[in-house]
Amino acid sequence: MSFSSLGLSEQLVRATTDQGYETPSPIQAKAIPAVLSGRDVMAAAQTGTGKTAGFTLPLLQRLAENPRTGKGPRVLILAPTRELAAQVHDSVALYSKYMPTKSAVVFGGVKINPQMMKLRKGLDVLVATPGRLMDLYQQNAVRFNEVEILVLDEADRMLDMGFIRDIRKILALLPAKRQNLLFSATFSKEIRTLAEGLLDNPVQVEVAARNTAAESIVQSVYPVDQSQKTALLSKLVRDNAWEQVLVFTRTKHGANRLTQKLERDGITAAAIHGNKSQGARTRALADFKQGEVRVLVATDIAARGLDIKQLPQVVNFELPNVPEDYVHRIGRTGRAGESGHALSLVSADEGSMLAGIERLLKKQLPRKSVEGFEPTNNLPLKPKGKPDPSRARNRNGNGGGNGKPAGNGRSFGGKPGGRSGGRSQSGNGGQARRSPQRESA
Ligand code: AMP
Repeated sequence: MSFSSLGLSEQLVRATTDQGYETPSPIQAKAIPAVLSGRDVMAAAQTGTGKTAGFTLPLLQRLAENPRTGKGPRVLILAPTRELAAQVHDSVALYSKYMPTKSAVVFGGVKINPQMMKLRKGLDVLVATPGRLMDLYQQNAVRFNEVEILVLDEADRMLDMGFIRDIRKILALLPAKRQNLLFSATFSKEIRTLAEGLLDNPVQVEVAARNTAAESIVQSVYPVDQSQKTALLSKLVRDNAWEQVLVFTRTKHGANRLTQKLERDGITAAAIHGNKSQGARTRALADFKQGEVRVLVATDIAARGLDIKQLPQVVNFELPNVPEDYVHRIGRTGRAGESGHALSLVSADEGSMLAGIERLLKKQLPRKSVEGFEPTNNLPLKPKGKPDPSRARNRNGNGGGNGKPAGNGRSFGGKPGGRSGGRSQSGNGGQARRSPQRESA
């Protein structure tokens, strides 16, 4: 299968070739024809599946097929965080490089005036976070009467972050006749309610079982005392000569503290979290991408949607409170069909969080140890809730799974990404989750 066989124009195919994409990813293979057909789409897809191109390529084509001369925007893409909005906009710009399409991105935390100026010039595609978009609307800087296509990207996170009221206000302002695309990693009751009110007879697209970590990610657990975690992390970074590692902490304060300690150990590090200014976040990410910073320390929400190409290594310095966040975190590695490594430093007090994660994954993660860092307080080896024993591997100690990542270019290739739901109604129902004490980005 190729991008052109999915019905995309020569300009769009050329743009994907420039990116080195060989074949459409499973979500693209399903979403592209659905969006091109003009129908509403409800897609279960996580970051890393190629979902952004899955909606961006066909919507650009729809705009091109039906040129208009208004001031726009004709397409509105809502995203939960500034980083994700910026990345989606980068994709729009990349894929439309051989087309006259004009696009812009607006989000909070930066001056509003330059955004107003951009909007005044007119545009086709607007990518926005909901709060800033409402501010702009209230200041008469944007109108929605020409919107033909609405995309809600990472809708579950938008609800988690409390954007539902802004989203509902925006929906009420859009023309009734339009195409709606809803992308979400999970389908809780709230998302289903939103989808029911929003989508008209949608094509349902689902490519990977919910909460299943990509097979290409090698995962392991290092039981270690809390007090030894920083020293162990420094050792691992050095011994393995990691040049680019994303490390997760639970709190903003923890992220700052760890960054300082690593720097003191002579390892370049930067923190990215909701208390940092937009400038500081953008700078930290850019330094990390360029290899000037070896360790990027992030909280869950700040890391949401980060697309760092071929990130080989993710470390959970602390486990997340919500097991599903573990899957999101480790999804930062092994992107786009590459393989990656995710390891977790787990202290005895995190035993129940680990058990929750292993229950969700339905497997036990291999335990590993480093000489001199064996914990004095032991971690239970067996998770409660009995994972499927046939899938449990390497229950203890130094067992395998230590192969080096084997990159395979820019192809999603291989397996079609597991379960493919077509119009399946099954499976995802209802399980609302969510921790009440999340960071706000
Ligand atoms: P996303 O899930 O949209 O965040 O995309 C994840 C990554 O996959 C991004 O770095 C994209 O550039 C990359 N990507 C998207 N489509 C393809 C493709 N068909 N082949 C290879 N890489 C892709």
